[in-house]
Amino acid sequence: MRWLGLPARPRLSAEQYAAFLEYRAPLRSRMLRAAVFCVLTFYLSCFLFDLWLLGDVTVLSAVLRFAVIVPITIGLFAYIAGNHPIEKKEIAAILVALLANVCWCIILVSSSSPGVLTYFYAATSFQMAITIAAASPFRPALRASIFTFCLNYSAIWFLEGVTPSYVIQHLAVYMPTVIMTLLVSYQLEVEALTSHLQMEENEALKRELSRQNKDLARLSVTDPLTRLSNRRGTEMELSRLTGESPDAASRVVLLVADVDHFKAYNDAYGHGAGDDCLKRVARAMRRALPIEAHLARHGGEEFVAILADADQDMAAALAESLRRAVRQLGIAHAHTGDRNQHVTISVGAACGTIQHEGDFDRLLDLADRALYAAKADGRNSWRVSLNEETERGVA
Ligand code: GH3
Ligand code: MG
Ligand code: MG
Repeated sequence: MRWLGLPARPRLSAEQYAAFLEYRAPLRSRMLRAAVFCVLTFYLSCFLFDLWLLGDVTVLSAVLRFAVIVPITIGLFAYIAGNHPIEKKEIAAILVALLANVCWCIILVSSSSPGVLTYFYAATSFQMAITIAAASPFRPALRASIFTFCLNYSAIWFLEGVTPSYVIQHLAVYMPTVIMTLLVSYQLEVEALTSHLQMEENEALKRELSRQNKDLARLSVTDPLTRLSNRRGTEMELSRLTGESPDAASRVVLLVADVDHFKAYNDAYGHGAGDDCLKRVARAMRRALPIEAHLARHGGEEFVAILADADQDMAAALAESLRRAVRQLGIAHAHTGDRNQHVTISVGAACGTIQHEGDFDRLLDLADRALYAAKADGRNSWRVSLNEETERGVA
């Protein structure tokens, strides 16, 4: 809702408002210190006006300004420098400004100089000092403005030579100052709240974006069906291995596993059943491998496993545990065309280095050849490649 075209004060929850106050506290503290210093300098320099315009109350002015207000303001500086909530510091500053206003009124009311009427227009400067000291919170500024208004317009009737028309003229100057300073105070508060909300929104968006980026990064290396890593994930694992542990990357076991007679399984039981079968096979293989081994689906019904810092004995052991894990699932497959009536895999393994460019492809080629040898040998078996030859596994 807008009144006189003023922006509406944004609504913040209790937690948001608490965060807003906490965020703004250091800035408000710095602003307050600067404002108190400027206002005090101005207040003390006004002693010169007292000398010039109110020669009959010079001593009173000196006492009130220098013996009362100065020590109190020094105390205020000490309080502002202390570890107190900013709201209390601002209230303390407003109270000191009001006290300075009271002292000033006493000085002017005590003078019988004709200059007081002109000088009393400076009452507007207290209104400005109060709104500056209150910084952006509008309500304390409004309350203090009402107080200083009542104070000045109570004192005005005791001035030497005051008339009702003078009070009206004074009001004509004072009121626009009150309204303008309060409008600025209100606008500052609205702007501070709005920019805080905007900042919170940006932070939330940043967090959401970074979460989505992480999700995207994870999805880009994940096979959607089996939730295993995909080819891209394998590439990242290879660069991680070669970068982080070049020594372990010089002794790598690579296994290629392929589901046997899977086309026949799909044809007989349907694509949905084929998908379920692939998921179960993937889970079983994951469980059969050590936690540090990388397992990925490299397309279709073919999987690749990588274990660093391992040798040929390890390759044979891993190949056998993969084969056994899938066979032990006991997924019926009546269309294998041989005596084995269950879903099985064949595995080809190779050992070597992946430290240099092209090493992985060479190793993959060797593992593939071992896999074909295992297939040719009747499936549900594994072979470990010994470079050019292949070692017989289990059938
Ligand atoms: P082999 O024992 O020689 O490996 O024979 P195979 O039938 O398993 O091999 P082939 O390459 O002839 O067939 C692979 C089949 O895998 C063909 C394709 O329909 C199936 N396939 C590939 N990807 C998926 C998939 O994501 N879901 C399902 N259900 N089937 C798939
Ligand atoms: Mg196959
Ligand atoms: Mg295949």
